[in-house]
Amino acid sequence: MDHPTHLEHPLHEQGPHALPPDQMAALVAAALAAQERAYAPYSRFAVGAAVQTASGQIFLGANIENAAYPLTICAERVALFSAYAANQREIVAIAVVTPTPSYASPCGACRQVLLELAPHSTVLLLNQAGDYRRTTPQELLPAGFGATDLERAKNL
Ligand SMILES: [Zn+2]
Repeated sequence: MDHPTHLEHPLHEQGPHALPPDQMAALVAAALAAQERAYAPYSRFAVGAAVQTASGQIFLGANIENAAYPLTICAERVALFSAYAANQREIVAIAVVTPTPSYASPCGACRQVLLELAPHSTVLLLNQAGDYRRTTPQELLPAGFGATDLERAKNL
C-alpha cells in the first residue's frame, strides 16, 4: 500500500481545534484500525472512524450492520456516541475511512449528527490508502437544522 500523502499540510490547520501533525497521524491510524472492526457482512463496505476529544482520548467506531437492514449504524455515529457516552463531548476531530480509492462523504444522517455533536471539529475523509481531505460539519451540511431552530419556534 502506498505511503499516505496529504492534500493539505497539517501545519496549515486553523480554527478552534487545530491538531498537531503527530495527533493527526495518530487519528488517521486509529481510523484505519477501527475499519477492521466493521461488521459489514451484507454491504462488504467496511468503514472506520476515530474521534479525537479535547481530553486527548480517541474513540473508535465501525459500521455495524444487521439482517434487518435499517438497523445498521454508521462508523461515524458509533464513534461519536461512544465519546459522548464516556462524557467526552468536546470533539476536536473525526477521521472516517472508506474502502474506496477516492474520498467518500458521510451520509445525511451522520452529517446531521456531526453538526450537533461535533460542531467545531475538523473532519478528515480518508481513502483506503490513508490520504485525506479535510472538511467541517458546516461544509458537509450547510444550512443544517439545529437546536436554534427549536428555540426560535418557542419564541413565536
Ligand atoms: Zn452515516
